[in-house]
Amino acid sequence: MSHFDIAIVGAGHAGAQAAIQLRQLGFAGSIGLIGAEPELPYERPPLSKEYLAGEKPFERMLIRPAAFWADRAVTLVPGTRIAAVDAGAKRIAAEDGAEFGYGTLIWAAGGIPRRLSCVGGDLAGVHVVRCKASSLRWSGWR
Ligand SMILES: Cc1cc2nc3c(=O)[nH]c(=O)nc-3n(C[C@H](O)[C@H](O)[C@H](O)COP(=O)(O)OP(=O)(O)OC[C@H]3O[C@@H](n4cnc5c(N)ncnc54)[C@H](O)[C@@H]3O)c2cc1C
Repeated sequence: MSHFDIAIVGAGHAGAQAAIQLRQLGFAGSIGLIGAEPELPYERPPLSKEYLAGEKPFERMLIRPAAFWADRAVTLVPGTRIAAVDAGAKRIAAEDGAEFGYGTLIWAAGGIPRRLSCVGGDLAGVHVVRCKASSLRWSGWR
């Protein structure tokens, strides 16, 4: 089982920025940035704008390039959704069974979009854009 002095759950803007700030402030312990999505941490706003329009490559949406995280000794754990927290044992468990110990837990898991609850909200053609995968799913209109 891996152990992080600080485990950050959610590798979106908030989680990534927390890791960046910890290093900037001189925190020298181990940091794990655990995220459900397979990508490096990235900015979401272009998903509904330049990325969707095909005007910006995904690489330019990354909050930091891969080398940054390695240089700062931030361990990225992508594609891992945390499903349980045992605060007493200071342990978190992922859906795939992986477990991580932690000293301090930062929960930065963001939110999920609310679907339209009105009639027609579930019709084909009514989309949610929240992540790279969902943006790609309906960018076929281009
Ligand atoms: C399409 C779109 C356009 C936007 N445009 C703008 C804009 O123009 N201007 C603006 O100010 N804001 C905009 N926003 C909002 C902005 O992107 C959000 O405020 C910001 O992403 C919030 O960051 P966050 O890190 O708190 O949450 P999120 O970005 O939601 O990141 C949370 C991360 O945690 C992961 N996660 C969730 N649960 C778990 C779990 N159990 N285990 C592991 N990982 C988990 C998620 O997969 C996600 O990667 C936009 C958002 C979207 C979706």
